[in-house]
Amino acid sequence: MAAQQTLDNAASWGTATHQAVEKFLTGEEYEVDPIIIPSIQAFKKWKKEYKAKILDVQNDVERKVYDLEDRYAGTLDALVEIKGVLGVLDIKTGSGIWDEYSLQLAAYMGAYNKSVPSKRMAKTRWILRLDQFEECKFCGAKKRVKGGKILIRGGKTSCYHKFSPARGEFEFKELKDFNHDIDGFIGAKRLWEWCNKSHLKQIENYPKTKIIQSLL
Ligand SMILES: [Zn+2]
Repeated sequence: MAAQQTLDNAASWGTATHQAVEKFLTGEEYEVDPIIIPSIQAFKKWKKEYKAKILDVQNDVERKVYDLEDRYAGTLDALVEIKGVLGVLDIKTGSGIWDEYSLQLAAYMGAYNKSVPSKRMAKTRWILRLDQFEECKFCGAKKRVKGGKILIRGGKTSCYHKFSPARGEFEFKELKDFNHDIDGFIGAKRLWEWCNKSHLKQIENYPKTKIIQSLL
């Protein structure tokens, strides 16, 4: 099936999940690919549990942000309000929440906050990881078929597994210490520019920030 083939790698799995979540957040009618339904159910459960609100459907989902001062741009998944606090939400579909995500979300939040009046500024950052797996009813092993590959974790290798239908789950994490993370991001970006200076030099209009100018 063509639709299933498009979900044959981790990247397209992530894209399909993002697309479905975004349509759901903006209230658009959308036919969800059957394979990702458990993940989308997990998303709906999260939204209900945390009473997450989108304040501006037109602008707060898939919002492009850019920082003219530090020269970078990106697209954040959504700005949501939870218990009166506005924050940057990023959806992940991998198997864990990694440290580097704090750099990415700090970059989004920094750029976004520079583009809005203070009452519309984001106060925090959240990662919502959507996952789905089948579970062996004998040994508890978890089987994930995301991204075309079958991964079985936990349980007993000697077990003749009998797996449940796929079910979804979410992991929700708030990232603290924005200042520390934005410093890390800007530092990483500068290091990247330093490593790539010979290439960047060839881009005539590559913005030359102070630090770049001193290096080139
Ligand atoms: Zn088993």
